[in-house]
Amino acid sequence: MTQRTLTIIKPDSVENGNVGNIIAHLEREGFRIVAARSLRLTQAQAGAFYAVHRERPFYTSLVAYMTSGPVWVMCLERADAVHYLRAVMGATNPADAAEGTIRAAYGTSIERNAIHGSDSAENAAIEVAFFFAASDLV
Ligand code: ATP
Ligand code: MG
Repeated sequence: MTQRTLTIIKPDSVENGNVGNIIAHLEREGFRIVAARSLRLTQAQAGAFYAVHRERPFYTSLVAYMTSGPVWVMCLERADAVHYLRAVMGATNPADAAEGTIRAAYGTSIERNAIHGSDSAENAAIEVAFFFAASDLV
């Protein structure tokens, strides 16, 4: 079933010049870009986006990292998009990510891991709406 998900190309990927490579990888995997824009997350946005992790020891550092520079947010579409994107991204820790995944290729630490992907269809809908108006989705 065709489905939509939300990805963030994280600040380390922008800093390291990997945006184009990551978009090419996603297109090669059959994702269609439904909406995309670059922005710099505010503390409030990053804090809210990762609110599920607010009790974790890495939360403060995660918010600092996610606000450290511009990111690209994208709504992506393909069959089984949510699960497929998670597979294409690889494990949270790039050291554990399978060969050929985006995090294995471009992630540099468990924090600076190149890319975000929604973890459920329900969260995908919430996260797409976090960044995009219905009229942005084309
Ligand atoms: P994302 O939600 O960004 O797609 P994920 O679902 O693979 O990543 P989560 O457990 O949701 O992993 O963690 C969110 C983000 O917090 C990770 O992508 C990473 O940047 C950071 N993070 C997770 N675990 C750690 C940790 N143990 N130490 C430092 N940073 C971490
Ligand atoms: Mg997550």
